[in-house]
Amino acid sequence: MAHNVDETTRFTSRETAQLQAEAATLRDLGWGNAISYSRKVFIPLTTMCRNTCGYCAFVKHPGQQGSGYLSPDEVLKIARNGERLGCKEALFSLGERPERRYPEARETLRRLGHATTIDYVIEACRLVLAHTSLIPHVNAGTLTEAEIAELREVSGSMGMMLETVSKRLMKPGMAHHACPDKSPVLRLRTIEAAGRLGVPFTTGILIGIGETFEERVESLVAIDRIHQRYGNVQEVIVQNFRAKADTAMAAWMEPSMRTCCARSPSPGWCSTRPSACRRLPTSTTASKITSPPASTTGVASLLSRSTTSTRSGRGRSCPNWPGARRRKATGWSSGLPSTRPS
Ligand code: SF4
Repeated sequence: MAHNVDETTRFTSRETAQLQAEAATLRDLGWGNAISYSRKVFIPLTTMCRNTCGYCAFVKHPGQQGSGYLSPDEVLKIARNGERLGCKEALFSLGERPERRYPEARETLRRLGHATTIDYVIEACRLVLAHTSLIPHVNAGTLTEAEIAELREVSGSMGMMLETVSKRLMKPGMAHHACPDKSPVLRLRTIEAAGRLGVPFTTGILIGIGETFEERVESLVAIDRIHQRYGNVQEVIVQNFRAKADTAMAAWMEPSMRTCCARSPSPGWCSTRPSACRRLPTSTTASKITSPPASTTGVASLLSRSTTSTRSGRGRSCPNWPGARRRKATGWSSGLPSTRPS
C-alpha cells in the first residue's frame, strides 16, 4: 500500500513518525522531554581562512569583497545589537589561521596588535565579556591544548565540526583537498584536548561531501568515544551538505533528507529513479541531536545497523544528477570507490 508522502522531506508519514518516536526515546533517556536552545548572535571575526573546502560559501580570499577581520568596534556593535534583540550568546565563527597563508592577514593582525588570529579571538571575547551580558562561544577550528586553555578563560564553551574521519576526502579533487586543518586526526585531537580541559564542546558531522555511509558512522563513533571518556560533547550536529553558488561543489548532488536521517542507505536514491534525486528545499541543518549523558549514548547500535548497508551506486549514471555533469566538465571527483553507498 502506498504511504502518504511529506513533500518537504520526502519521508513517508510512517517513517517520519518512526523517526520522531526514536528521537523522542533518545531524548527522554538522556534529558527528559525538555528541549533547550541558545539565543545567539554570530560574530564572523574573520572571513579569511587558510583552507579551501570545496563547499564553503563563507570564506573570502584577500581582494574579494567582504574579506578581512572585524575591528574591535565592529565586534562590539554586533554583540550589542544581539544583546538588544535578546541574545545570550556571542558565537564567534571564523576561518582557520589565515595568517599562515596570507600576508594580508598577518598585516591586519599586526595593525590590531596581534600575531595570530587566536590571540585576537581572545581579545574579542574579553571585549564582549567586559561590555555586554553575552557569553562567548568560540568556533575557531583546530586548536592546541594551550590555545584551548587560554580560550577557556574567556568563553563558556567551544565548538568545531569534526565533519568526517575520512582522510580520503583530503585527496585532490575532493572536498577537503588543500585543507590542512581538515585532517581528521587534528580535529579529533582538538575535541579530545577540550575534553581533557573540561570544556563543553559542540561538534558534528557533515553529510553528503563524498563520504561513505560507513564513514559517517565511524565519525559518530569517534565523537562518541571521546564523549564516553571525557563527557564534554554537549551537542552533535548532523548537517547536510548544500550546494552553494560560486563554490567548487556548486553542482554537487545534495543528499536527500532520507539519506541524512536514515539508519541504513536509502533504497529510493537510485540511478534508475531520477525523480528521487530532487534537491532539499529547506534548512541547512537536517537535525540536531543533543548528546545525552555518556552512559546513555548508543552509537554502537547505530554501527550495528549500518551493517545492513547496500551499495546501489546511486545517482552515478543519473542524467539529472548535476554532479555527474560537473565532474565530467571540470574533473571534480566524487572520490568514491567504484561503488557508492549512501
Ligand atoms: S575551514 Fe573550510 S568551511 Fe571553514 S571557513 Fe575555512 S574554507 Fe570555509
